[in-house]
Amino acid sequence: LMRTSDRSDDSSFIGKMKRSGSKVVVFYGSQTGTAEEFAGRLAKDATRYGLKSMVADPEEFDMNDLAQLPAEIDDHLAIFCMATYGEGDPTDNAAEFYQMLIDQELDLSNLNFCVFALGNKTYEHYNATGRYVNKRLIELGAKCIHPMGEGDDDANMEDDFITWKDEMWPKVCEFFGLDATGQDINMRQYSLTELTNPDPNKTFTGEITRLKSHLPDKQRPPFDAKNPFMSRVLVNRELHKGGGRNCLHIELDITDSKIRYDAGDHVAVYSCNNPELVEGLCSMLGKDPDTVFMLTNLDEFSSKRSPFPCPCSYRTALSHYVDITSPPRTHVLKEFIQYASDEKDREQLVLMTSTTDEGRAAYQEWVVKSARTVSHVLEDLPSCRPPLDYLCELLPRLQARYYSISSSPKEHPSSVHVTAVVLQYETLTKRINKGVATNWLMARQPTQDQQYTVPIFVRKSQFRLPIKSEVPVVMIGPGTGIAPFRGFLQERDVAFKRDGSVGKMLLYFGCRQKAHDYIYQEELEQYEKSGLVTLRLAFSRDQPEKIYVQHLLAQDAALVWDLIGKQNGHLYVCGDAKNMAREVNLTIIDICRKEGDMTQQQAEDYVKTMIQKKRYSSDVWS
Ligand code: FAD
Ligand code: NAP
Repeated sequence: LMRTSDRSDDSSFIGKMKRSGSKVVVFYGSQTGTAEEFAGRLAKDATRYGLKSMVADPEEFDMNDLAQLPAEIDDHLAIFCMATYGEGDPTDNAAEFYQMLIDQELDLSNLNFCVFALGNKTYEHYNATGRYVNKRLIELGAKCIHPMGEGDDDANMEDDFITWKDEMWPKVCEFFGLDATGQDINMRQYSLTELTNPDPNKTFTGEITRLKSHLPDKQRPPFDAKNPFMSRVLVNRELHKGGGRNCLHIELDITDSKIRYDAGDHVAVYSCNNPELVEGLCSMLGKDPDTVFMLTNLDEFSSKRSPFPCPCSYRTALSHYVDITSPPRTHVLKEFIQYASDEKDREQLVLMTSTTDEGRAAYQEWVVKSARTVSHVLEDLPSCRPPLDYLCELLPRLQARYYSISSSPKEHPSSVHVTAVVLQYETLTKRINKGVATNWLMARQPTQDQQYTVPIFVRKSQFRLPIKSEVPVVMIGPGTGIAPFRGFLQERDVAFKRDGSVGKMLLYFGCRQKAHDYIYQEELEQYEKSGLVTLRLAFSRDQPEKIYVQHLLAQDAALVWDLIGKQNGHLYVCGDAKNMAREVNLTIIDICRKEGDMTQQQAEDYVKTMIQKKRYSSDVWS
């Protein structure tokens, strides 16, 4: 029998651990980059304790090898940073590993492991993936070195993570027989080279992975997160009629892309940071934005040669690749300490990065609650000037943003539509923060002389109309939550026009004021006139008291129960996860209890079963 580590292919993480002398492997299941970032931080921590380690994407390795790890590397440790996505699902890159754990009875006795779960308590299946992985590894005989940690993105993920790892490392050190003080060595993971004569043909200009991949003649399907399609903006128009906010209706061309989608799917958009912010950072840190540089991993065994495609200019890095607007995490601030010359600035940074209660509160208040970006931090700590290339190394990657597609391929086979509200808010420090993707999209309005393209890919969802068009549907989507229902209406309208009838469609929409943000009013009223849909409208600010979609649902209890309880209809909720979706859920339970003659417990179980049977689906975000 061939030993795993002798396999010549690159799919063996054990082989790679042996070649690099690693004892610790950190796997991540990541959708938006946070779990991957945490994995990288854990690997860096391990080095501080003298443990060579590597970060691994489960998608790239044969995870069956976990069973061989104990025999092949003594004193090993496998750490799993597992995010939960959507309806309690694993992330795309961990889906196969997750299924393998379910399907196979691996013998994992003697495997040493720890799990950190990432999720959001706003959602129903909080940390389902991390919890399952932890439970299943134990079931399969593996040895849990330190109890699972859980991070809640709705509260304070960073705090949860550092609290957990500060308790984990002493346990791990004890396990390995190491000194738990750790060395506070300054560790740069990448070395900087600035190019004096860069070759424009070899310089990245914002491509996600492959050089020149965005050029029309280099575009090759299939398109996905690593190979986005450059989609032309066909339409970009304002939906609000007043009220001081903007809401975009965008149509993106997918002709010749071979992209297929269904009503209810999501489209992901890669965007760019605001040029003023980019230039501001360059000038604050004394760099010419057009200098071309590269960052090269000092660890030759790492699969990540650079943190983002290199070489590129500082302008490209800060525009396309680096997240410069999310509040910087504590490990970034910790690295800033050495670059602050003023004692006061240093003290502020030391306080915010200390793991005392006072330190955590200071970080929470000064950074998170105040929504300070890295530029704001540097503006307010004027003696702190880290090198720009180090900033590029430390900050997370700029992520794609997801949007619920607001069209149906039955009506629009060659375009996907997006309905997005433009994010802008004032912070506690009186600064105006602007959402990256929505503000970038808003500026991309095609004219006769100027066309725009947007890098996109489509992500399949579970949010689907019933297969049979006669099944009744109840749709609840205030604000931009209406997006997928516009797709649903288009989809059923095709059947309606063909067959003359479809199952009842009942739509609950809510907005602030009828005159301002009743989006798609004309289309919706046309559908209602034709008999396709019944509209229930909650205008929250057109009268002294608030009227929300859930209030209308409660008023319509008998009708709603008739559709979902008696006629086995499907119910859909889309939009704000934090308050609306939860309150709608409680209202539906209430309706089942009253109209279906159930106890509270029976009503809750009834709704749970509806969710399991996909008769109650949510497409919600916070
Ligand atoms: P970002 O630059 O990402 O800024 C957003 C961040 O700013 C927030 O995460 C929050 O941390 C912070 N923030 C926001 N408001 C405040 C505040 N008042 N105070 C302090 N901090 C604040 N959006 C739509 O408009 N339409 C859709 O159809 C849609 N569908 C989605 C579907 C899915 C599955 C998901 C996950 C999200 C969806 N979203 C949708 C949200 C969308 O992905 C983006 O999050 C949104 O457009 C903001 O992106 P942005 O880059 O403009 O803002
Ligand atoms: P929006 O225009 O802000 O809101 C749409 C309608 O929903 C408004 O009439 C609003 O009323 C109402 N609403 C507010 N709270 C509600 C609740 N608890 N239950 C039912 N309805 C409620 O929505 P949007 O512009 O589409 O939202 C933009 C983005 O903000 C979305 O990404 C959404 O997820 C997010 N969002 C987040 C939160 C949050 O707390 N996390 C809240 C709202 C929106 P009033 O504004 O008059 O109260």
